[in-house]
Amino acid sequence: MIFQTRSRCDGKTRTQIRPHTVLEDFPLFCPKCKYTCVIRFKDGKIEEIKMPDA
Ligand SMILES: [Zn+2]
Repeated sequence: MIFQTRSRCDGKTRTQIRPHTVLEDFPLFCPKCKYTCVIRFKDGKIEEIKMPDA
């Protein structure tokens, strides 16, 4: 089983993950917003890591 990750705008990304994938500090690019957010993914839950404004 492969999941398609979704960005915060609920757009589909090209990143595919499996239920037991663990991601930490992972830059997830949203092709719809042209925006990269940094996420972590663990136990089937995706969580956005807040980044300080650069
Ligand atoms: Zn987006």
